[in-house]
Amino acid sequence: MTTTGVTPMMAQYLEIKEAHPGSLLFYRMGDFYELFFDDAVAASEALDIALTKRGKHDGDDIPMCGVPVHAAEGYLLTLIRKGFRVAVCEQMEDPAEAKKRGAKSVVKRGVVRLVTPGTLTEDSLLEARRHNYLAALTEVRGEVAFAYSDISTGELRVVSLPEVRIGPELARLMPREVLLCDAKEQDWAELIEDNGAALTPLGRAAFDSTAAEGRLCKLYKVDTLDAFGTFTRAELSALGAIVEYLDITQKGTLPLLRAPVREAQDRVVQIDASTRRNLELTRSLSGGRQGSLLSVVDRTVTAGGGRLLERRLSAPSRVLDEVLRRQEAVAYAVDHSGTANQWRDSLRRVPDLDRALSRLSLDRGGPRDLTAVRNAITQSLQLADTLAQLELPALLSQLTVDLAQQEELLDLLDQALIAEPPLLARDGGFIAAGFHAELDEARTLRDEGRGVVAGLQAQYAEETGINSLKVKHNNVLGYFIECTATHGEKMLGMSERFIHRQTTANALRFTTVELSDLETRILNAGGRALEIEKRLFETLRQAILEQAAPLGSMARALAELDLTTALADLARSEDWCRPLIDDSRTFRIEAGRHPVVEAALKGDGDPFVANDCELSPRDGAAIWLLTGPNMAGKSTFLRQNALIALLAQMGGFVPAHAAHIGLVSQIFSRVGASDDLARGRSTFMVEMVETAAILNQADDRALVILDEIGRGTATYDGLSIAWATMEHLHDVNRCRALFATHYHEMTALTEKLDGVENATVSVKEWEGEVIFLHEVKRGAADRSYGVQVARLAGLPASVVERARVVLEALEEGERQGGGTKQKALIDDLPLFAAIPPAPPPAAKPAPSPALEMLEKIHPDELTPREALQLLYELKEKA
Ligand code: ADP
Repeated sequence: MTTTGVTPMMAQYLEIKEAHPGSLLFYRMGDFYELFFDDAVAASEALDIALTKRGKHDGDDIPMCGVPVHAAEGYLLTLIRKGFRVAVCEQMEDPAEAKKRGAKSVVKRGVVRLVTPGTLTEDSLLEARRHNYLAALTEVRGEVAFAYSDISTGELRVVSLPEVRIGPELARLMPREVLLCDAKEQDWAELIEDNGAALTPLGRAAFDSTAAEGRLCKLYKVDTLDAFGTFTRAELSALGAIVEYLDITQKGTLPLLRAPVREAQDRVVQIDASTRRNLELTRSLSGGRQGSLLSVVDRTVTAGGGRLLERRLSAPSRVLDEVLRRQEAVAYAVDHSGTANQWRDSLRRVPDLDRALSRLSLDRGGPRDLTAVRNAITQSLQLADTLAQLELPALLSQLTVDLAQQEELLDLLDQALIAEPPLLARDGGFIAAGFHAELDEARTLRDEGRGVVAGLQAQYAEETGINSLKVKHNNVLGYFIECTATHGEKMLGMSERFIHRQTTANALRFTTVELSDLETRILNAGGRALEIEKRLFETLRQAILEQAAPLGSMARALAELDLTTALADLARSEDWCRPLIDDSRTFRIEAGRHPVVEAALKGDGDPFVANDCELSPRDGAAIWLLTGPNMAGKSTFLRQNALIALLAQMGGFVPAHAAHIGLVSQIFSRVGASDDLARGRSTFMVEMVETAAILNQADDRALVILDEIGRGTATYDGLSIAWATMEHLHDVNRCRALFATHYHEMTALTEKLDGVENATVSVKEWEGEVIFLHEVKRGAADRSYGVQVARLAGLPASVVERARVVLEALEEGERQGGGTKQKALIDDLPLFAAIPPAPPPAAKPAPSPALEMLEKIHPDELTPREALQLLYELKEKA
């Protein structure tokens, strides 16, 4: 766009717009952020607001839309959610200043911030209980590193990892935005987008590892990074990119970042993306939090505790000491429920300290962030007091140290702030009376002035004898005396005293010398009070920021205490047990339950049937091969055992009567393709790729769960794949595993593989119907009941009946020697017995497609859904 022949304001707009490509420009004009040109068109559509126009550019109307500043956050949120980025451009001076430079001068403006998905700090734009991560992914000479930061809490971490772990890492953290070097391969970009994160390409310079060192040293005001540990080139590059991007988006005001922490991959249980999805750890398969493990185990009462729970659940520990220390603390809280409940009462009053600190550091905070810090310290000190009097386990007594601090800062904030301050610092009114003498004086003057004005009205009314006379205020005249037109003459006659200012349709307005004087005094006093409050806000802000590091530790301690007591509360109310965790390879669960299914059943009033699981620790593998009909509860059983392991290593109690778990290093969970239809991929291929990943990665401490692997292909293919997979798990991976299958043939494997045991979910047949008992027993299932399940699913009686006949024929065929004979048998079956026969064909009949299809059907292996689908297809072909 050209900038010649445009108004000075438009020239300024175009210049700023050009410097921020790729972002919508929110251009501040008075009380609005205005958008122009294409930005306006895009935003008006995205926000569903009116598109208007303002002036012309190159002969065309300029499209425009705007949002009021006071409501801007909501609009920003919508835009960010819809994938936009926004550059916020503010007026950098008072418009009065600009006027002084000449009538045509434009107010100075500048972009103060780029709002992107990964750099949000406002409470209204964030989910309180979820982290909002910005991540950077980089490779330096074959070494891959992944750095991530939540600027709303100040966390900054980096981890080196093999390339295959990128997907799992993205799935664990679910960053909102990922920075990638321009030149990086497409593969990563796809992975990032698959994980639902916005991708932000940055130039090579942003990822330069040498520049990164400089940036980090400057940020932390140190000469060398040694104090934080040693970082590889790739790690530095990733960290550097984050800092650079924050610098760009926050326009130089860097958030409070804690010292970078190097994460060790081997300290946490490795869980890959599909396992996370399958186990529905933090989100259910339908995508929401509802129905996830997180949603049923979350009893935290603070936002920080909620975020910590999500972090722990996404990455349970595999360091025995750490697990035991956490468990010991939870056990203490279970045993001392009265005390723990008192702590929780205090915790309920703890505000989001991390996020308040972050906003204050970015100078985006308000008086309520100051009181958030005050209230957090108040509760923290109270908690510390009660904790200090008790004989506590190690973890809790360590927390006491981090909780018991900042008395001085608290004194200051207590004295300085009122109880419930207004939202914005610029409105004033948040500093308590008695804190600052000069402020008190200015306020008194301002307030008394207002009282004196009221007094003047009475005095003037008496002087003039006009009772209806009023002293009013508007922005043009300031204070003035108003009388109706009927009394106008009388007032005009007293011109010595009352100076005429304005005549309106039915009123006359006057002022007096004393009223103008008073007005100046009130204005000055009010302005001075505001100035002082602004200064005090800054002083308090600085006082808080000086203590940022210890306050950060306090926030962590509060979150940890919250999580500990929340897990205890859960354990008590749901009757969970303390698992025994050690270095062995045992996996013994007595009467285990699936917390999410159990919670869902509770709503319906059905009891959940608890089940044991024992993967006996021999030298090699320990695998249960689980057979049983569809809907019997195989998947539920498989998953509950994985969840129990995970909850145990998070440091919590588990839904069982007793549990003994040898530390698990990796958890893998895969579901056969046909359950995954909704994802609409070449499902069998996905299934095989995922199975391959397990066979290649699982070590002897892994816990593997395979549900109906091989189902996505033809019977014998599927069976052979399942068979071979089992052998590999047993002989090579030598891990603990649960393997559900409908291939009864596989039950024979127990004779060959000594680490494999058969188990089955029992059902009862009663008057031709199956009743699911949901009980897992050792031994093999005798048959699969697919046909009965089909009936339950509502398949027409004629089809069920027909299926039973086909099944019997097939089973008979099997007994007589399988394969080719079966085909002959099917050929012999009367077609569609329940349907009137078709008229005889005139000539030599073409082979019926429906018949061909029917030949290929194996009812045993059909899920009800597949059966129904097939029926539709058959119907089409018939
Ligand atoms: P499968 O994998 O064998 O097809 P699922 O595990 O999906 O079966 O279970 C089917 C349904 O049965 C579940 O949705 C649940 O409502 C119920 N169910 C499963 N296990 C239990 C149990 N142990 N106690 C009570 N109900 C159960």
